[in-house]
Amino acid sequence: MAVPKNKVTTSKRNMRRAHDALKGSSYEECPSCGELKRPHHVCEACGQYNDREVISAEDAA
Ligand SMILES: [Zn+2]
Repeated sequence: MAVPKNKVTTSKRNMRRAHDALKGSSYEECPSCGELKRPHHVCEACGQYNDREVISAEDAA
């Protein structure tokens, strides 16, 4: 079984983990109602996607 040759110091370990933090989910403005929505997702406020109503606004709400 492969075994690490040297101890990874706390400094090296923490430098590796410096990039591990999760980014928050991104949002963009809905072009039809201006509500914040997730990119590439149907707007939850008005049910529009690509200038077309995909789900009715009542169902979306
Ligand atoms: Zn919308």
